[in-house]
Amino acid sequence: MAQAVLERSARTRPRPAIEFTKLLIDNKWVDAADKRTFETLDPSTGEVIASVAEAGAADVDRAVKAARRALETGPWSTMDAAERGLLMYRLADLVAKHAEDLAALESLNCGKTITDSRGDLEGVVNTLRYYAGWADKVEGKTVPVRGSFLSYTLRQPVGVIGQIIPWNFPLLMLAWKWGPALACGNTIVMKPAEQTPLTALRVAALAVEAGFPAGVINILNGYGETAGAALVAHPDVDKIAFTGHVDTAKIIQRQAAETLKRTTFELGGKSPNVIFADANLDDAVAGAFHAIYFHGGQCCTAGSRLFVEAKIHDEFVERLAHKARARAIGDPLDDATQQGPQVSLEQLDKILHYVDLGKSQGARLVAGGLRVGDRGYYVAPTIFDGVKDEMAIATDEIFGPVVSVLPFGSIDEVVTRANATNYGLAAAVWTKDIDKAHLFAKHVKAGTVWVNCYHVVDATTPFGGFKMSGQGRENGEAALEHYTETKTVTVKLG
Ligand code: ADP
Repeated sequence: MAQAVLERSARTRPRPAIEFTKLLIDNKWVDAADKRTFETLDPSTGEVIASVAEAGAADVDRAVKAARRALETGPWSTMDAAERGLLMYRLADLVAKHAEDLAALESLNCGKTITDSRGDLEGVVNTLRYYAGWADKVEGKTVPVRGSFLSYTLRQPVGVIGQIIPWNFPLLMLAWKWGPALACGNTIVMKPAEQTPLTALRVAALAVEAGFPAGVINILNGYGETAGAALVAHPDVDKIAFTGHVDTAKIIQRQAAETLKRTTFELGGKSPNVIFADANLDDAVAGAFHAIYFHGGQCCTAGSRLFVEAKIHDEFVERLAHKARARAIGDPLDDATQQGPQVSLEQLDKILHYVDLGKSQGARLVAGGLRVGDRGYYVAPTIFDGVKDEMAIATDEIFGPVVSVLPFGSIDEVVTRANATNYGLAAAVWTKDIDKAHLFAKHVKAGTVWVNCYHVVDATTPFGGFKMSGQGRENGEAALEHYTETKTVTVKLG
C-alpha cells in the first residue's frame, strides 16, 4: 500500500490574513533599529508568506529598558494582583474569540494540521485562565524563628524575563511562559522562533487590546545567534526561560553565567514508550501511533523509542505499519489532513539523514522513509524495526515522524534500557497489570509518565525534564517557583 497523500493543489480555505510583522516594544509596533527584515515561509509550499522585522542587539536593549520601566515604575508595578489576573482573563477571552483565525495562522506558519492547532489554542486559553486564577494566590509564609522576632516571607517577581521559544508549538509555548510570568508580576521580552513569528505577534496585539500596560509584554522576532544571544547577555535581564534544543541550552547556560541569570530549560527527549503483551492492543497501537506521529513527530515528548514485548512484537509492528501507510498527508489547513509538513527544509534534511543512518546501521525499514512530493517539506510516517539500542536512530532526538521499535523480555530489562539515555522528559507504559504500571512509573527517570495514554499534558500538571531534558518545571503550581524571588522580612518585637 502506498502512502496516502491528499490532493494539495487547491486550498479549502483562504490563506489567513497576516496583519502584524513588526516588533512590539513598549506597546508600539516598530521596525528594527537597523531596518532589517527576514522572510517567513509556509512549510507546505516553501513559499515566502511575509517579511518581518528582525531584532538586533539595539532592539533587545530598547525592549529590556521598556520592560524594566514597566516593572519598576509603570502601572503594572503597583497594580493589585487581582487586577493582573483580570487582565489575563481578558486576554484569554480575546484568544478564545479569535481562536479559529489564530489556529489557521499557526497552521500556515508552522505546518501543523488545523485540528492540532485548534487543540493548541484550547491549551493556550486554558493556560492563561489557569494562571490568571493564580495571580492573587501566590502567598508567602510566617516563619517561627528563635527569639523575639516576627519573620515572614514575601514572594516577589524575579523581574525582567527573557523568554525564548521554539517553532513546534509557537502559541502553546508562549502561553506556558507568559502565564506564570504574568501571574507573578514579572515583565517579558519574548523571542519567538525565527521560523514561526506570526502568531506571537497576533496574540501580542490582543494583549495590547486587553489592556496590558506598555512594556509588560515585548516581542522581538529574530534569530537565536543575534537577538536571542543579546537577550541572554543583557545585564538587565533577570532570568531566561528557554525551550529548545539541548545544545542551545548549553550555550545559553554558559553565557548566562556571566551575569548569573536565573535559567529554566525545557529541552528534548528520546522518550521510551513501553508496550506489555497484556495491554489492550487496540488502544496500545493507537497510542503508540499518536505518541510518535502527533505533529509529525515534532514534539519534545514524542514516543520515539517504542519498546514492544517480544511475544507481541510482530503483530504490533504490522498493525502500526498499516496505520502509518494510511495516514493522510497534505495541506495543514485542510480539515481532512492528519499530518502536515515538517517545519523547514533543514528539518526535512535532518530526518532523511537519520533514515539513511538507520538503513546503513542495519535497521529494517518497515514503512515510510521517504519525502512525500517535491513541494513543501513532507515526510511519510516511518517505522524502523530490528533496531539496536546503540544505533543513532535509537539514541538521537530526530524530531520527525520516525519510530524505532525495540523488542524486550522483562520489566527489569526494559526499565534499564529505557533509562539508558541522557534524556528524561517523558515515558509511557501500556499494561493492565497495576504492579507493572506503578513499578515502571516509579523507576523510569522522566519528568512525566503516562499509563495507558500518551501526550496528555494539562496547564495544571508540572512538566519538565530529568537529566539533560531540562531544569525546572512549567505548568501547575510548580512553575510559580521559577517566577518569584522569596524575600525574608524579620521584625524585632518589643
Ligand atoms: P530547534 O532545533 O527547535 O530550532 P533551537 O534551540 O535552535 O531549537 O531554537 C529554539 C529557540 O532558541 C529559537 O527561538 C532560536 O532562535 C533560539 N536560539 C538558537 N540559538 C540561540 C542562542 N545562541 N542564544 C539564544 N537563543 C538561541
